Parts: sequence; structure tokens; C-alpha cells
Amino acid sequence: MATPNIKINLKKIAYNAETLKELYGSKGIDIIGVTKVVCGNPDIAATLVKSGIRILAESRISNIKKMRNAGIKTQFLLLRTPFLSQVESVVKYTDISLNSELSVIKRLSHFAIKHHLTHKIILMIESGDLREGLMPSELDDIVAQVVRLDGIQLAGIGTNLACFGGIEPDDEKMRSLSSIAKDIEDKYELQLEYVSGGNSANYNWYMSTKNIGRINNLRLGESILLGCETLHRKPIPGLFTDAFTLQTEVIESKIKPSLPYGNVCQDAFGNIPEFQDSGEIRRAILGIGLQDVAVSGLTPRMDIQVLGASSDHIIIDAKKMELIVGQIVEFDLNYAALLSAMTSSYVNKESVTC
Ligand SMILES: *Cc1c(COP(=O)(O)O)cnc(C)c1O
Repeated sequence: MATPNIKINLKKIAYNAETLKELYGSKGIDIIGVTKVVCGNPDIAATLVKSGIRILAESRISNIKKMRNAGIKTQFLLLRTPFLSQVESVVKYTDISLNSELSVIKRLSHFAIKHHLTHKIILMIESGDLREGLMPSELDDIVAQVVRLDGIQLAGIGTNLACFGGIEPDDEKMRSLSSIAKDIEDKYELQLEYVSGGNSANYNWYMSTKNIGRINNLRLGESILLGCETLHRKPIPGLFTDAFTLQTEVIESKIKPSLPYGNVCQDAFGNIPEFQDSGEIRRAILGIGLQDVAVSGLTPRMDIQVLGASSDHIIIDAKKMELIVGQIVEFDLNYAALLSAMTSSYVNKESVTC
């Protein structure tokens, strides 16, 4: 096996996707599968589509092209609001995009007309997390202009929380999005296909709310892939939290002091490290480092301790484990670690089905 390796259990991902689809579907919420954290991995995309997910959402057009080229047949939504400089490829390669800038939507309209296409847009509304979204005060003016644009279909509205500002999607914020949807539908006599209330952070709201209002859509990445909600990173009951396994190889294993000796200066990243002296310990080195993965997001599956990392090495206190050279050491990954490992060209990706 080539290491470092990320083992992707497609069966567990399919189970999570089907379970969440059923859970949210029971109150009328359809889920979009978000592939950005796995860089549009075609095996995972195919698994999501096979599990009944009808729209895949991605931040990057290159990943959407990758999935299309791999033969994934579904609708693609562009998650990151488009760059003005990329709008032509947005209409060519995606079916739907999230938007918050009129100048961009006008250019989308221009290229949709040029290519004889209708491009669907979801207008993003700011709800307090302070990443993308129109301020509610500018909404009316923008909607009035958007509905007049040829080549553009106002397919819905949406909001995104708990990504930048860490703001919780609660009943009040969801009610407010519902009421905006209703106002637009009444005023412009149209039907919004999507009222997209958020992401994996909406789980607690969904489980506790008595009324989902007009919310009929969520865009889910982390809860499908890592099996947790994202406000407190608690596992969602019944889901697999270990669909991904990072496998690394021991390249040195020796009894050494726990305290570096000599004059203490800066480490490779400009920090002055501090260590505790616990005498001699078994230290192991793993052939993976910060160029491969966000090391702080790794949790070992055996009782060992990560002491630190440099570009290409993780240093381990093996504790009671007799780690030997060539042995495989496995880790769970959090969102940041998964994102970095999937993005790194140095980490092998292996899909398995059992
Ligand atoms: C990343 C992203 C999502 C998915 O977030 P998860 O926490 O992975 O479910 C949804 N919507 C937008 C706009 C995003 O950028």
C-alpha cells in the first residue's frame, strides 16, 4: 500500500447519506450533497448520487468539471458565489449557483443568453454569520432587477450560518428566511423552488423545531461525510463517524529522551518549542507531515500521543505501544484534516466498499 493513504469507506458514506436524506425528508427537506471537502472525489460523488441525492454542490468549477468528466450524471450547484471573471464557465458547467452580487448576476444573464441556456440562481441572504449574502434591506431592489433578467431563473433563496462567524441557525433566523421567501413569492407572483436554510449546522434546529416553515432544502457536507453536526461536533446518532481513515507508516522507532538537548532556538516554523521532561520514552516517527495534512485535526485510533510535526514528519510518543518500523498507524480526521489530506497530492486516496 502507498502511504500516506486516506481510506474512504463508500458504504459508510452511502449509509450516512441515505439516513440523512430520510431524516430530513420526513419533514419535507431535500438535501444537497456537498463535495468540496473531498475536492469533488468522483467515487464519493457517484456514491452520493446512488444514495438518492439529486444535486451535488461544489465550491470550485475545476472539481465540477472533474465530476462531469468522470461521468457523474446529476445537477451541479456552485457553492462559492461566482467570481466576475469566471461567469461564462459557471453557466457552461453548472446548473445552479449561489449569488449575492447584482453585477455578477447580470454577467451570468449575458452568458446564459449567449449559450442559449437558463441558469438557475439562489440568492443568498445575510443572517448574521457575515460571510456571503445580501443585506435584507437591499433585497427588494435586487429581486426586482433579477426577475427581469433573461437567461436567469430566480430558483430560490438561501442562507449560510456557522461558517465564518460561528452563528447558530435557530428558529428565529429560519422563520425570518421563510418570511422573506413568502414576501418574494407574493410580491412577484412566483414559486421559489428552493428555500435553502443552511448546512450541517442546521441539525439541532431541525431536531428541535416545531415548524420548519418554508425551509425545504439544506446543503450538507460534513454531516454526511463525518457523521456529526457542526455546532458542537457531536456525532449524529446512528451515523458513521469513521468513513475516512488516514493511514501512515512508522519510519523510525527508538527509545530516546523526551526533552530535546542543546541550546533551544526556533523550530522549522519559527516557534520556540517547549517540552515536558518525562524521561526516556519510545518515540516513533510517521512518514506524514504538515505538507500532507492539518496535523492538529488528527486523532490516533490507538493509545499514542502526537508530540508535534514538521513538514514531512509526525513525532509520536508511542506510550505502551511497541511501534515497529513499517507498521501502519491509523487516525480519524476532523474537517480541517480531511480538507487538507484530500487536497494534498502527496496523500494517496483509496476507495473501499467494506
Ligand atoms: C461548505 C458549504 C456548505 C456545506 O457545509 P457543511 O458544514 O460541510 O455541511 C453549505 N453551504 C455553503 C454555502 C458552503 O460553503
